[in-house]
Amino acid sequence: MPKLSAELGIKGISAVLALLFLTACIAQHDSKRNYRLESAATPASDSSKLPAKNLIIFIGDGMGVSTITAARIFDGQSKGLSGEDNQLAFEDFNNLALVKTYNTNAQVPDSAGTATAILSGYKTNIGAINVKPNTDISKMVLSSCVTKLTSPTLFKRAKKAGLSVGLISTARITHATPAAMYGQAVSRDWEQKSDIDPRAAKYGCKSLAEQLLKNTPDITLGGGTSKFTDEQLSKWAKKDGHIYVSDAQSFRAVPKDKTVLGLFTESHMSYDADRDDSKEPSLAEMTAFTIDALAARDTGYVILIEAGRVDHAHHDSNAYRAMKDMQALNAAVQVAKDKAGDDTLIMVTADHSHVFTISGYPARGNPILGLVRNPDPEAGEPAKDYAKDLDGKPYTTLGYANGPNIREADSPTLTDNLVQSDNYQQQTTVRLESETHAGEDVPLYATGPGSHLVRGVIEQDEIGHIIHTALGLK
Ligand SMILES: [Zn+2]
Repeated sequence: MPKLSAELGIKGISAVLALLFLTACIAQHDSKRNYRLESAATPASDSSKLPAKNLIIFIGDGMGVSTITAARIFDGQSKGLSGEDNQLAFEDFNNLALVKTYNTNAQVPDSAGTATAILSGYKTNIGAINVKPNTDISKMVLSSCVTKLTSPTLFKRAKKAGLSVGLISTARITHATPAAMYGQAVSRDWEQKSDIDPRAAKYGCKSLAEQLLKNTPDITLGGGTSKFTDEQLSKWAKKDGHIYVSDAQSFRAVPKDKTVLGLFTESHMSYDADRDDSKEPSLAEMTAFTIDALAARDTGYVILIEAGRVDHAHHDSNAYRAMKDMQALNAAVQVAKDKAGDDTLIMVTADHSHVFTISGYPARGNPILGLVRNPDPEAGEPAKDYAKDLDGKPYTTLGYANGPNIREADSPTLTDNLVQSDNYQQQTTVRLESETHAGEDVPLYATGPGSHLVRGVIEQDEIGHIIHTALGLK
C-alpha cells in the first residue's frame, strides 16, 4: 500500500475514492432505471384504434424543455429528493414528438398563432387567432369579420360531431390560447368591444368576449370578468340550463349537468403560489370537475386545459412562480390520467418556449432555484463554496437570456437567501422590460388512441390534424 500511495500520490487516492463513489452513484441510479423499465410507462392500449372517444389536451403556456426539466427537479426537491431523476405525470406517455413552433411571419412565435396551429391545424401570423394568414392585414380583417372564410374552430368542429366541450385556463378566458378554442380575431387584443380597432369595428368584427358568450363550451372555467360587462354576463346566465359562478364556493356547489361559466378573477387567475383556495379552485380541481361533468354526458368530449401563467412568471423572470404553476399543471395531468379511460387521447404540449436556461455545473441535488455549487469529486459531495464568475461573484443555476434584471459587473453579490425567495427575478443578459419567448422546438407528449401519430419532428399545425384525425372530426 505505501508503494501504491507513493505512486498515485494523495490526489490519485482521492481520485480513486471519487471514482468508487461515482460508481456507487451510477449503480444506485441504474437500479432505479431498471425498476422504471419494469414498472412504469402508461399502458399502451391499442393507440392506433380510432376514433378516440375523448381528447384532453394540456397546453403549458411557455413550457419549453428547460422549463420541464427545471420543474421536474423543483418538484422532486419539494418532496425532499435530489430531484434530477424525478418524473412528472406526463413523462411516462408512450409517444413523443418535437414541434416546430414558428408563426407564418415570426421565427419566435406568440400564443395566438401557435394555439391556432395546435387546435385548428394551420399556422398563421403572430397575434392572429383562427384567421388565415395574409400579408395584407385588411384582407385578414375581411376574411375574419365579413366573409368568414376561415375554417371552423375546434369548438365548432367538436359540436358538429356531437361532442361536449370543456375549456379551462388560468389566464383570462379571452386570452390568446383559450380564445383559439372558440374565437376568431385578427388581433389577440380584441378581447372586449372597446379593444377592437375602429377601422375593423366598422366591418362588424366581434370581440372575443362576445364570441365566447355566443359559442360557450359546456364547461368554461378561468379568469377575466373585466373583459365582460355585467349586462353581458347576466344575459348569458338567464339562458336555459346556464349557470354563471364567480367564486370557488359557488363553483363547488354547481350541478354537473349545467352549462357552466366560471370566471374567478377580474383578470388572470392568481399564480398557484399566491392562490387562495377559498376563492379560486386549482387547475387540478377544475380539471376533475370538467372531466366528471363531461364524462357523465356520454357524448364524448374535447377539453383544453391551459396552464396560462407559467408564461407570465417567465416574462417576469420569476422562475419560482413558473415552477409552482408547473406543479399545478402536473397535478392536473395526474387527475386526467386517473380519470380518463383507454378511449381518451391525452396530449401535453407547449405553445412555445422561453429564453430560460439551466446552467453552470451544479452538483446533484443542488437547490434548483439556488446559487451554483459544483460537485467536489474529492469530498464526494457538493463543494462548500459557491462557483464564481469572472467578477468573483456567485450565480444562479436558473437564468434568462433577456428580461428586466440584467447582470452587471457591479450588480450586488447574490446570496442563497435572496435568490431562493419567492419574488426573486433571475438575472438576465439583455435588458428588456419583459423576458421573451424562445424559438426552439417544444415537446408534445401523448398517450391513448391516436397517440401513435405523435412522433418525429413535426410542424405545430400537424397537432391540429392529429386531433381532427384521432376524433374523426371534419
Ligand atoms: Zn408570453
